[in-house]
Amino acid sequence: MTHWRDTKLPGVGTTIFTRISRQAKELGAINLSQGFPDFMPDQHLLDLTHQAMLEGANQYAPLAGVPELLQVIHEHLRTTYDVNYDPQNEITITAGATQAIYTALSTLVYPGDEVLFFEPVFDSYRPAILTHLGVPVPIVLDPPFEALDWDQVRSVITKRTRGVIINSPHNPSGYVWTDADYRELEQIAQQYDLWVISDEVYEHLVYDGARHLTALAYEGLRDRCLTCFSFGKSLHVTGWKIGYIVATATLTARFRQVHQFTVFVVNHPAQAGIAKYVAMHHPFKQLAPFFEQKRNLLMKQLDPTPFKVIPTQGTYFMVADYRAIRDIPDEEFVSWLMESYGIATIPLSAFYSAPNDLRLVRFCFAKKEETLLEAGRRLRALG
Ligand code: PMP
Repeated sequence: MTHWRDTKLPGVGTTIFTRISRQAKELGAINLSQGFPDFMPDQHLLDLTHQAMLEGANQYAPLAGVPELLQVIHEHLRTTYDVNYDPQNEITITAGATQAIYTALSTLVYPGDEVLFFEPVFDSYRPAILTHLGVPVPIVLDPPFEALDWDQVRSVITKRTRGVIINSPHNPSGYVWTDADYRELEQIAQQYDLWVISDEVYEHLVYDGARHLTALAYEGLRDRCLTCFSFGKSLHVTGWKIGYIVATATLTARFRQVHQFTVFVVNHPAQAGIAKYVAMHHPFKQLAPFFEQKRNLLMKQLDPTPFKVIPTQGTYFMVADYRAIRDIPDEEFVSWLMESYGIATIPLSAFYSAPNDLRLVRFCFAKKEETLLEAGRRLRALG
């Protein structure tokens, strides 16, 4: 990269999520592609946020976030995970997890730094590493995504490796990290002195009686890890773009240096409304059973079809093999399914940096029961 006219993101166009959602709208297809609910959030959350506006929360919020919201998050982390992070100095409200991750990378990445992550991967990590002139190093996982290959992780570490981005529960595979995974990471991060960004936006969406384990609880990660969360996912308000990042005071101070010049501060009335709502309703415990029911409903819809589902342990996504329907590349299959059957999905190749010939698509089941049933009706026509 030698000239200001060169893009920092060669080959990157509009994200597949935006393109497919747009096309789904044009075609009137059922949109099981992008990760957002098609149902309303709780009316009381909307009322409390409206009330916050009427009460004057319309100017800049404090840099770290609204104190009541920081306190609510502190309490949530303490009661859910038995960890103690100081609301004033160790928690920062961000414009969604995407900005938290981006700003964390701005804080940490120097040109030429190698950054590891697991593929398939959420699409923002790689471009965010590249815009900071870091070197993305994918660790490719194979379907059915039942375990992480720690020998492979060790094998890609070089003298220039500086950090790793992790994501559990994992979008798109639904893999949920085990205690053994975190112990491996702890060991590797300490041995090679790596920083860690832990993306835990689906913390509440873990099924079949399993429990989410957070990087925040691992002593060996504590002074090297920034952990991100999203109210978009936990309160069904992806459009509000409110999330937060948790890290030791030292790392948080460094993060805030950059954060204050990136977004400065984050939407004030939404923070005030969320703080009141979460304190009053404690809404997170209901999320796992709520989405587990939707997962089971989508599985039931896919069961009579030739799709071969890879069981999902977490998130609101499900990956399925479509080879028995048509043995064609996934982007082509997704267009065909949308045009012929009115169902929008995401091709799994969108989550990889190198081309591959996997025959997998991702479904999102954060949808109303009637949406999932109608999708099932259309999918049954596949045979
Ligand atoms: N990380 C992962 C793994 C995600 O799936 C998403 C949203 N799809 C995000 C981060 C972004 O979260 P937010 O909307 O809060 O920016």
